[in-house]
Parts: sequence; structure tokens; C-alpha cells
Amino acid sequence: MPSLTIADRVNRVTPSMTLAISAKAKAMKAEGLDVCSFSAGEPDFDTPDHIKAAAKQALDQGKTRYGPAAGEPALRRAIAQKLQQDNDLCYGPENIIVTNGGKHSLYNLMMTLIGPGDEVIIPAPYWVSYPEMVTLAGGTPVIVPTDLAGGYKITPEQLRRHITPQTRLFILNSPSNPTGTVYSPEEIKALAEVVIEADIWVVSDEIYEKIRYDDVPHLSIGAIGPEAYQRTLLSNGFAKAYAMTGWRIGYLAGPVELIRAMNTLQSHSTSNVCTFAQYGAIAALEGPQDCIATMGHAFAQRRQVMLKAIHSIPGLSCATPQGAFYLYVDISALAVPSLDFCSQLLEEKYVATIPGVAFGAEGSIRLSYATDLETIERGLERLAAFVRSRS
Ligand SMILES: *Cc1c(COP(=O)(O)O)cnc(C)c1O
Repeated sequence: MPSLTIADRVNRVTPSMTLAISAKAKAMKAEGLDVCSFSAGEPDFDTPDHIKAAAKQALDQGKTRYGPAAGEPALRRAIAQKLQQDNDLCYGPENIIVTNGGKHSLYNLMMTLIGPGDEVIIPAPYWVSYPEMVTLAGGTPVIVPTDLAGGYKITPEQLRRHITPQTRLFILNSPSNPTGTVYSPEEIKALAEVVIEADIWVVSDEIYEKIRYDDVPHLSIGAIGPEAYQRTLLSNGFAKAYAMTGWRIGYLAGPVELIRAMNTLQSHSTSNVCTFAQYGAIAALEGPQDCIATMGHAFAQRRQVMLKAIHSIPGLSCATPQGAFYLYVDISALAVPSLDFCSQLLEEKYVATIPGVAFGAEGSIRLSYATDLETIERGLERLAAFVRSRS
């Protein structure tokens, strides 16, 4: 056998810790252990029936062949219309590429836009894949810490301070995974001013756009004005809004030349996203939207139960998430590394959570409430007992 030397580009990155912990929790469950898992990064709902029906119909109609690498024209049109209607953004189908999920749209973007010497500004806590994608592309992630007191938001001053002549891109994720933070329109405007002044790109990851609470508004940074629009790349997908994680459909919107270059990359790597799945995505955009509200009500109810339970545990604190389906809980009062906390909690109490260190920040853990109320009640009792035993 030839020597198995793994290429440097892969050696430089670490496997996704969230996927690893979810897998361990699943394996423990399969062994028959009574695990309460708060590790999931996906809605626990099934894909709405009308979306499934559209994909089944596409299969029956023979939509089973290769399609254009950038996506079915009908889907690109539907996305353009969605961006106009929901986000006040003027894009044509030629400004849109359909990808294998939001993760893939961001990965292809990094591969297309970022190279050696380029710096990418990422506020922490961040989604686990951002820095690794930048590293895979040969660029340098520049991590900017944020904290509970500041609502886990990067300030315009912080952004300005981290911009250098090498800065190429700023990653903005609102609503945020893992913190649930939603930037207000005023805050988005203030960040846009820095982006315009420094003349850098911003990629807005809006995958949780549809999951918000207390009527907080969502503003796409590109909608602020022509100067912001010109510098904005928008990444979104179907996974979170429509409970379609396994379908693998996302998209990126931006200038035609960028989309063309991403299409070239895609045409030599994945080619088109599963053709009949794209017809499900069209139905998601063009069909009834009440599924979003139904799931949203369930998330809102669980959020209340989770918050109440966490606030009643001495030593733990957390901000009220305004979007997504995560509680980002501060455990710094317990003075224990987040990975140790999560490992022991899983081993002793069979409760799966994700350590903050996975998101580039110590002193916190992430609990997903994309799970049923009964699991939430049982799991949080165990968490309370675990914390009591430590303090
Ligand atoms: C889930 C998620 C994505 C994309 O997920 P896909 O399943 O690849 O569509 C992108 N960004 C964040 C922050 C996420 O949590």
C-alpha cells in the first residue's frame, strides 16, 4: 500500500465537533441509553407534505437527469422573486447559484473569492464551519470576540479596528447560530457603513431568517442602499426554514461575474443539486407559508420553557435568543472548560450539548431546542442536578 499522507489542506482543519457530538449521542441512544439530546442543528419536524409531493411529482415526470450546474432556471427565478419580496433585494436569476445546502454555498464562495493572504473577519462565537472554510481556501480567518454583555454582536468600531489592507470579506450571520442574536436594522446599517468605507465584501448568512421571536425585524444588509448592495453576497437555503436539512439545497446571490466563477467551480465538482429535490424547493417558495408559522410557534413555546429552566439554575445565565433555535448558556461562573463540562454531562447524565469552544469561545455551551418539550423538561432537570453536583 502506498503511504497514506493526507494533504496539508485537510490536515489544517478539524472535523466538525457538532457533528461528532451529535453522532456520539445517537450512538449512545442506539445502545439503549436514555439520552436527552440538545445537540441537533436541525429542526425536528418533517418536511411539509406539499413540498414532498412536488418532489415526488418531479420524479414521476422524469426530472431525473443532469440539469444546469447553477440550478434549474425555474428555481433560480423563484429565488430571485423571494429575495425581491421578502428582502427588498433586486436580483435576476443570473445573480443566483443553487448549491448543495447553505454550507456548500459558503464553501464555494470561499473557494472562489478567497486566496492566500486574504483575511476574512468572523465574529465569535461563530458557526463552526466559517473559519475552516476560509482555511481550506488558503485564507486567514480573523476572529473577533463578542460577549454576553454586548449581546454577542460585533460593533462597528470592532469591525473597523480589525480591517487591514488584506481584508477581503466580513461574515455576518443574523439570526446567529450559536447565540440566537439578531442584529437590529440600525446595527446592520452601522456595520454596512464600515463595509462601504473600507470597500470590502460582506457575506450575509441568512439561513435562520424565518425563525425569529417577539416580532424582531430582519434586515438584509444589501437592502440598505446601492453601495451596500454592491458589496453584499447573500447565502441562504431551505434547511432551517422548511425543515429540509437532508435535501441539501441552498443558494448564493451576488454579482453575475462571481456567480459565473462559482458556476465554473461547481461544474467541475458537484454539478447540479439533485434535480427532483429542486422541484421541492420551488414548491417551498411558491406554496403556502403557514408551515413556517406552525414550526415557529413550537420553537417559541420551547424557548420559553428552556429560558425559565435555565434562569432557575444558580450559576447559569443566558441571553434571550431572538432568532434560530439555540440557547447559548454562560457557564463561566463554574470555572470549568466547556468541553469538560459537555463531556461529563453526556457521560454522567446522558445529556448532549455543544461546548462553546467549538464556536471559538470558552465559558459557554449551546443547547438546541429543536426537540420535544418532554425531552426539554427531562434534560433540563438533569442539567440542574449536574450543575448542583459541581457547585
Ligand atoms: C445550518 C446552517 C447553515 C446551512 O446549512 P445547510 O444544511 O448546508 O443548508 C448555514 N449557516 C448556519 C449558521 C447554519 O446553522
